[in-house]
Amino acid sequence: MSINISTKCIHLEGREENAPAHYGAVSYPIYQTATFAHKGVGESTGYDYTRLQNPTREQLEKIVAGLEDGIDALAFSSGMAAIAAMMELFEPGDHLIVDADLYGGSIRLFDNISRKNGVSFSNIDCYKEDVSKYITDATKAIYIETPTNPMMNVTDIQAISEVAKKHNLLLIVDNTFLSPYFQNPLKLGADIVVHSGTKYLGGHNDAIAGFLVTGREDISERLRFIFKTTGAGLSPFDSWLVIRGIKTLALRMEKAQENALALAKWLQEQEHVTKVIYPGLTSHPGYEIMKRQSRGFGGMITFEVSGKTFALEILKRVRLIRFAESLGGVETLITYPATQTHADVPEEVREKNGITDRLLRMSVGIEDIRDLTKELESVFAEAQEAVNGGEKS
Ligand SMILES: *Cc1c(COP(=O)(O)O)cnc(C)c1O
Repeated sequence: MSINISTKCIHLEGREENAPAHYGAVSYPIYQTATFAHKGVGESTGYDYTRLQNPTREQLEKIVAGLEDGIDALAFSSGMAAIAAMMELFEPGDHLIVDADLYGGSIRLFDNISRKNGVSFSNIDCYKEDVSKYITDATKAIYIETPTNPMMNVTDIQAISEVAKKHNLLLIVDNTFLSPYFQNPLKLGADIVVHSGTKYLGGHNDAIAGFLVTGREDISERLRFIFKTTGAGLSPFDSWLVIRGIKTLALRMEKAQENALALAKWLQEQEHVTKVIYPGLTSHPGYEIMKRQSRGFGGMITFEVSGKTFALEILKRVRLIRFAESLGGVETLITYPATQTHADVPEEVREKNGITDRLLRMSVGIEDIRDLTKELESVFAEAQEAVNGGEKS
């Protein structure tokens, strides 16, 4: 019997066959052990050493593989550890096509670590450019986010996967912004899905985690080798936290999306908001593609205000909403990409991508929408007063 995604967040399919009894524990136990004893040579329980395998981490990996419809998921100590391990698939001389607008940490990794290791990149706006123009004999993969961070550009995953297949390239999709609840890139032709498990999967801003998921046996084998060799596996306790977080993924995603749509509409009506980028607005250029390839639009909003001072005043004045980096948790967070998530991205790249000093990113949480709106109303009014006062003096 196959089960639906909200149920999959709570119950592992084939649980009886896959797991020992654990005395009937309903919450999966934390196997806080570094190593596992053997009865004799060649007699392993299936677990030897926690860097390689750990039952709690394995339970989490099975859940995430199930949510993404993959055959294997690997749980890492952070999203960046996952992406760094993924880059070990490539060799000096290899070339990758990567989205121009990406999570700042991914850009930093590609520019500073991968380049040093001899991998070269073309940074392309994959949502609007013809990527096949940039493919060379050395090209090995296409790496995208959709929607991108923070500009929310939407790429047609199926269309780009056809280009990748035609040229025998891997398609890698960072699916952090929508989570597997809203989008499954493997089903649309991707070879590897990346997640920062710190965000929606964990969902409570209390653990750092990352995932690589694949539907291909050959890739799983290569990644498992890199995983055990480089050693950035998620700890048993943090694995348990993410298992616990995922149980409410469906509820959290639905509520965050409902709140985000309401706030996006509210923002559109504000005098000092010059741009609202939320893919769930019918005016967003990626709206139709999202309707085809995703089951929702997520809880992330990027917006631009009339001036830098106004933006800074908002950040200074939020109370219920917290001014903090990160996203995907139950709390609503507001971020200033120019100095936070994208601070290490060269200024000219930031400018080209539209990451100005008037741009704010909001990860909408699951609070009561009336409280979020009330807070923004007073914060915007105070910020306006502060800007006016500043002009007078
Ligand atoms: C946060 C994030 C990452 C990095 O994940 P960490 O868990 O912070 O290492 C990668 N991609 C996206 C889209 C992210 O938001």
